Amino acid sequence: MSRTVAFSKHSVNVFFHILTRCNLHCRHCYINPREHGENTLSFDTITAWLKLFVDQTKNANLIFLGGEPTLHPDLDRAVKAAKRMGYASITIDTNGYLFHDIIEKITPKEADFISFSLDGATSATNDRIRGDGCYHHCIAGIEKTVARGFKTSLIYTVSNDNIHELPMMPDLLGRLGVSRFFIQVIGLRGKSAAQGKNHLQVDRSTWRTLIPAVADQAAAIGITVTYPKVFLESADVFECAGLVAENYFIFPNGRVYRCPLCEDYPLHSLEIRDNVLVPTGKINEQDLFGLTIPEGCVMNRLVQAGNLSYRTDGSPEYKIACCLLKEEVPGRKV
Ligand code: SF4
Ligand code: SF4
Repeated sequence: MSRTVAFSKHSVNVFFHILTRCNLHCRHCYINPREHGENTLSFDTITAWLKLFVDQTKNANLIFLGGEPTLHPDLDRAVKAAKRMGYASITIDTNGYLFHDIIEKITPKEADFISFSLDGATSATNDRIRGDGCYHHCIAGIEKTVARGFKTSLIYTVSNDNIHELPMMPDLLGRLGVSRFFIQVIGLRGKSAAQGKNHLQVDRSTWRTLIPAVADQAAAIGITVTYPKVFLESADVFECAGLVAENYFIFPNGRVYRCPLCEDYPLHSLEIRDNVLVPTGKINEQDLFGLTIPEGCVMNRLVQAGNLSYRTDGSPEYKIACCLLKEEVPGRKV
């Protein structure tokens, strides 16, 4: 059974980009150095910023991101520092290259999940999108990480470029021993937005038929699947995570966003200056969250309206959910 994971007022999710540098050049990368910076945070700065967001009363979940976070030589120390501070869970998102022997320097007690990214079930499709050779690096990285006793997850960003291989993923993940599967929808951010590729976005009918079927297939072999709801039914209530949840997307230039769809613009509502978190001036993302429009998400309407559709009277046929609203299908015992 799938269930919508409602926004939790009792948890904080901290998405911490400790650098933006990466060894890959994926076609759909959302990192935008002009808006996110090109610097690498020092270990001292990472720990100072981690302290700003830890909240032991609310279960603060931490995700280390980049660029490629394992390129940071002090990632292992940052993981250990976050654990000591009391973060409820710690995840590292990686492209699979696992630089600086990160898997040898931390333990499964310190990192709850190592999360890999793959955008194809075959090297032909994945490497066309993410770069030559990275399929094999990622698979080898997963095997090594599972063998070391870590829990692993995998993120697959679905677009019209790779949706045909999505049904092959549950079998692959089952063989690799991956325990969570995050199906992500391509957003028109970063490089995708620059290419103006509306045709990358999967249409509503395909999304609503194929994604739940693949999720169920993976759940049947014990893998828990999470995917964005994207299209709301008429009975569904629209909510903006910027108003009802606590998510922070931190970038190395000090910008802190509450909404991922705002990240290509200087619309961040918070900023870290001299290791202090301060609100930014108007107009920022916070001013957009409260706007009510019949299409649902305001930022979706502004930056990726290609996924909307209208009746002849001009009213939208459906609403677009907050991109942070997820469906979860728990893995069934096998
Ligand atoms: S691995 Fe991630 S950060 Fe690196 S280019 Fe690909 S999408 Fe961007
Ligand atoms: S994606 Fe839309 S609904 Fe979600 S936080 Fe951003 S503006 Fe709000």
